[in-house]
Amino acid sequence: MNTTSEFWDKSAEDLSREDLEALQLSRLQSTLERVMRSPFYSRRFAETGFRPDAVTHMSDARSIPFTTKQDLRDSFPYGLLCEPRDRLARMHASSGTTGQSVAIFYTKTDLQTWADLVARCMYMTGARPGDTFQNLSGYGLFTGGLGFQYGAERLGMLTIPAGAGNSKRQIQLMRDFSTNVIHIIPSFALLLMDVFKEQGVDPREDLSLKIAFIGAEPYSEEVRKRLEDFYGIKVYNSYGLSEMNGPGVGFECPQQNGMHIWEDSYMVEIVDPKTLEPVPDGQYGELVMTTLRREAMPIVRYRTKDLTRILPGPCPCGRVHRRIDRIQGRSDDMFIIKGVNVFPIQVEQVLMNIPEVGNNYVIVLRRENNIDDMIVRVEVTDRIFVEDMRLLHRLQQRIARDLKSELLLTPKVELAEPNSLPKSEGKAVRLLDQRKL
Ligand code: ADP
Ligand code: ZN
Repeated sequence: MNTTSEFWDKSAEDLSREDLEALQLSRLQSTLERVMRSPFYSRRFAETGFRPDAVTHMSDARSIPFTTKQDLRDSFPYGLLCEPRDRLARMHASSGTTGQSVAIFYTKTDLQTWADLVARCMYMTGARPGDTFQNLSGYGLFTGGLGFQYGAERLGMLTIPAGAGNSKRQIQLMRDFSTNVIHIIPSFALLLMDVFKEQGVDPREDLSLKIAFIGAEPYSEEVRKRLEDFYGIKVYNSYGLSEMNGPGVGFECPQQNGMHIWEDSYMVEIVDPKTLEPVPDGQYGELVMTTLRREAMPIVRYRTKDLTRILPGPCPCGRVHRRIDRIQGRSDDMFIIKGVNVFPIQVEQVLMNIPEVGNNYVIVLRRENNIDDMIVRVEVTDRIFVEDMRLLHRLQQRIARDLKSELLLTPKVELAEPNSLPKSEGKAVRLLDQRKL
């Protein structure tokens, strides 16, 4: 068991499963009372005949109606509000990766609760007051900016709101202020590696980095390994979504094996996306979440569309909050080609295991004469591109072969020069499905 100093909030982190579930039940019950104040839920509960007082045990939660992203869009912007407008302090919007965005509102108390959760996450990995934290995440409506900013300030770190992009400046800031803790999305962390190389800066030698929080989009274990090796850091996976505040929902502990969901603040379920029935621990399904502490805009049984599973068994760190596995992708990201279901992350796993493959790639799906084609365009590393055609050809064949053994279909592989594929400052676009055009 951990010593007290390893917990940010001992009462929330170091408790028995029994006490945690009692706390969850009472918070769930008050959340269900509260959501009745919103036009959306009062209507939804009336239509479905669900009564909040029917929940007297956690297992009764299964009778609560689901909420979908479409529900949030349909009731945009104020349909889920449970507080009068003059009690609101902030709004965020999802980045709209998959369609029209949704608006999320926070009271002052919500903002404090959220900052405290993010601080709890960072503290768990070993970040401490006195550390210097650089947030290389987009600010503005995206929750990864202010979410981490307030969490880091709450923890007591010197916080540099560097924002996304501006690669050279980022490196300069890291040097000038001896940054040792960072937050960055995986695609930007990969792109930044090339800038470091161009500038002749070796992060392991020339910088003080020790911890990185990396999330906001799916990435593979192979990418974690690349980043840890190159930067000389420990990478902790960070999961969140605007609908559940933003970052601070699920976070890896020092074990780096699955993300603890803070179950005092969120109820977590995994359901079969087709039948919507719960699946046993260890089995993949859709993550469904309920806010347990939100004032302005509580959301119950929200279908995240994110696919993952509960990791069975206790975590050696001693926290009883259950862990979810790395997110496989959103159900929207999965594509079907020649009858095979593929997630972009599977392609990434294969690519990032090949040392000659650089850090940027894109998957293109095309249809010609009614035949679907999958093209994987990958940048090669600087080192290889100058060498001869035979080597390139061999590399191309190896990539195709490795992809085939993972996906059971053979994509076309196109090699691209370093830094030639499109870069994005926000979440990376890894899939171009041109078949629908
Ligand atoms: P948008 O849905 O427009 O991208 P958000 O910023 O709210 O807006 O993004 C939340 C989504 O980002 C999650 O539902 C999930 O799909 C993805 N995501 C967040 N963190 C991670 C992570 N650590 N691993 C994989 N996917 C993640
Ligand atoms: Zn743990």
